[in-house]
Amino acid sequence: MSIDIDDDESSDILVRFPAAVRFIDSGLHPYGAAHEAKTGGDDTTATSTSSPKSGVYVHCAMGKSRSVSCVVAYLLYKYPHRFGGKQFIESPASTQRRRITAGEAVSSALQCVREARPGAEPNPGFMRQLELWWEMGCPADDDGVVERHPIYQKWLYDGMLQEARDMRMAPDAGQIRFEDEVRAREKEQDDETVTRTNGKEVRCKKCRRTLATPGFLLSHTPTGQAANSGCAHIFVDTLSWMRTALEDGALDGRLVCPNSKCSATVGRFAWQGLQCTCKQWVVPAFSLNRSRVDEVSSQPVGSSAIRMPPGRNGSL
Ligand SMILES: [Zn+2]
Ligand SMILES: [Zn+2]
Repeated sequence: MSIDIDDDESSDILVRFPAAVRFIDSGLHPYGAAHEAKTGGDDTTATSTSSPKSGVYVHCAMGKSRSVSCVVAYLLYKYPHRFGGKQFIESPASTQRRRITAGEAVSSALQCVREARPGAEPNPGFMRQLELWWEMGCPADDDGVVERHPIYQKWLYDGMLQEARDMRMAPDAGQIRFEDEVRAREKEQDDETVTRTNGKEVRCKKCRRTLATPGFLLSHTPTGQAANSGCAHIFVDTLSWMRTALEDGALDGRLVCPNSKCSATVGRFAWQGLQCTCKQWVVPAFSLNRSRVDEVSSQPVGSSAIRMPPGRNGSL
């Protein structure tokens, strides 16, 4: 198997992992998983059921970045439990249990490779892609499975935005990703139970039109809130009601209330980012001006306290 790719931070190696890990696996376990299952094999006995002639040689020019990335991707895929997969660990800093982060999983898999090859060091772009690979659960059922994954699509989109920023340009109108539409499509596809986020929803001060429900508020403060008491901005995802303003192609501009009878200025956007009054930069920035909106506690579904006008469910 040959993968034609440059050792460049911006090269997309992620999309090649499914084919690469399946190839490595078929080289190491030529009798297949079925045989290993029959002989009672699991991960620990897999080595003993492999034929002495089985093996796979993974190489690139230096044996440092590209080949190591493929081997690390394989380890994460094949032995997720060794790197904390689907397990919780005790956090030393608190009594709260937390999941292993993707960064921790990737660096401990890399550590394994370094035991045999001390110079192993994927470039930073590949390290980031390995983390995404872990976050999406190392899917390898077919060659296109990464390409279809929402995490991958978001990563590609962020890369495109970065390129546009570097050229000091707004992204092309047709390429803008409206997060509420994306999430609605994802929900249709995987039929997952809708997780409703509790918290404040943001409404236009003048007409009370809902501008952002809690799931679309972005945290930008060290404590993970959408805004602290001193912040003049509430940052939100790119939402479909901003379409007219954003598809105009400007680098920055005003955001107006989507209620055509209101059209009050409620905030602004800046593809190059904005600095909040708390000094934190948010890039790109879709900001609702705190003095132009109301933050209203949104009630969980089924709460008797919720009273919505007929024909409105209060969500975007
Ligand atoms: Zn309004
Ligand atoms: Zn702030």
